[in-house]
Amino acid sequence: MNRNLLFCFGVVFVALLLPVSIFNIGEATPEWSLFWQVRTYFVTYSGMVSMILMSLCIILSVKHWPVVRWPIEKWLGGLDQQYRLHKYLGISAAFSALFHWASFLSDDFAMDLGFVTLKDETFPFWTLVEALGDPAQLIGEYGFYFTAAFVLIAWIKKFKHNVFQFSHKLFPYLYLLLVLHMVMFFDASLWLTFPGLVLLMTSTLATVGSLLTILGFNGKQKRYPAKVERFTPMNNGVEVVLKVDPQNSREFQFKPGQFAFIGFGDKERAHPFSLASACHRDGTVRLLIKANGDYTNALINSLKVGQAAQVEGPYGCFNFDDEAKQHIWFAAGIGIAPFLTAIEAVGKNKTVSLYYSFREKESALLAELKQRAIEAGVDLHVRDTTSQSRFASEEIISNVQDINQCSVWFCGPSELGKRLERDFAKAKLPSKAFHRELFEFR
Ligand SMILES: Cc1cc2nc3c(=O)[nH]c(=O)nc-3n(C[C@H](O)[C@H](O)[C@H](O)COP(=O)(O)OP(=O)(O)OC[C@H]3O[C@@H](n4cnc5c(N)ncnc54)[C@H](O)[C@@H]3O)c2cc1C
Repeated sequence: MNRNLLFCFGVVFVALLLPVSIFNIGEATPEWSLFWQVRTYFVTYSGMVSMILMSLCIILSVKHWPVVRWPIEKWLGGLDQQYRLHKYLGISAAFSALFHWASFLSDDFAMDLGFVTLKDETFPFWTLVEALGDPAQLIGEYGFYFTAAFVLIAWIKKFKHNVFQFSHKLFPYLYLLLVLHMVMFFDASLWLTFPGLVLLMTSTLATVGSLLTILGFNGKQKRYPAKVERFTPMNNGVEVVLKVDPQNSREFQFKPGQFAFIGFGDKERAHPFSLASACHRDGTVRLLIKANGDYTNALINSLKVGQAAQVEGPYGCFNFDDEAKQHIWFAAGIGIAPFLTAIEAVGKNKTVSLYYSFREKESALLAELKQRAIEAGVDLHVRDTTSQSRFASEEIISNVQDINQCSVWFCGPSELGKRLERDFAKAKLPSKAFHRELFEFR
């Protein structure tokens, strides 16, 4: 089974079953039969687990947490990694919601099969649940269906990116409805238990996060107006130079390897692109954009000098900042973009070997790369994979002077990155010394 899927099952399994022995949660009315006691436990606890996971998922989707945002991003290794964890939490939350729903329905099956009889619901909490039952249950039921649908849309890459984004836009509203479902059904006496407090804290933060997103504040603090200063068509792409509004250009500072969400004044949601030039005080920002799909294809043909744009960022921790003496950089295709900012800044201070493989030959870019590599003393290896063989991992590893004093920075197709990471792990590179920029958030 897929490793990520196993991870998600694992999270749900541990979250659901481990606390049984640690926390005595959801004590059912003792005179009920064992079936009702177990069912009550699972319905309550799986509901709590799925809300905690869903809340964490929402918390991580917020780019703009005024005080703590940077430490969270830094701790997780960048916004791309933060979004990956957000994805796994979303999938795990859907699994536990499925468990919650199945536990809830288990009494119908058990009664239909004649295994159990109705429980005595004179206990005040259960009387209240009966009274609120229908609307709260309906919200929960449809909330579950929509959550499952959104997770499938995010998961199955066959759905177009704009369908994925639309479903993500709806999710904060859905989350608020699920909070309502939780408040209506949750046994008030449980709020002051340890898991109840965790649920309270995470769902409060996620409610604030959902409101920030709905009101359009998610990332707003880091948005700067800009204009297209010039652009040059490239082989299957375009090089764009933006100029951030002079009033904001001092504020907009970034480090080598970081990226930003760029909007071009159209209806499309901003897309992430690496900042492919060093940070200039005059606010110019260079982007290398490859025609990767519908939007980028259309953009290349519609760009105009002077066109309004918007830069939101910088984000990311692919910033070459470590103590390693030797750096191995590997770029494939448009993955060269984050390295272009780093050549001078990092290349002059460390021993750097840059491996660049490409299929769409861009002579101007290659000439620039070669020139800058010579100036910075970077050992550059280039390979055109339409006519030459790919770089083999062994070839790269054989150039490493001391595996314990080295770090690897990769940007390119994810399968290639995974293979390189595996091969470096076999060569005993510590796992934290391998850095991979994820060019996809899904
Ligand atoms: C951190 C990061 C840095 C990147 N840097 C560069 C770069 O320097 N140059 C470059 O050419 N490309 C870069 N990309 C990839 C670029 O964002 C996508 O190629 C582009 O958004 C494709 O959009 P599309 O609608 O044309 O293609 P689609 O066919 O719609 O999408 C192709 C793939 O691009 C991704 N994508 C699409 N829209 C978005 C969006 N709004 N937000 C996030 N991902 C999206 C999805 O994974 C999708 O599967 C980067 C991506 C990330 C995550």
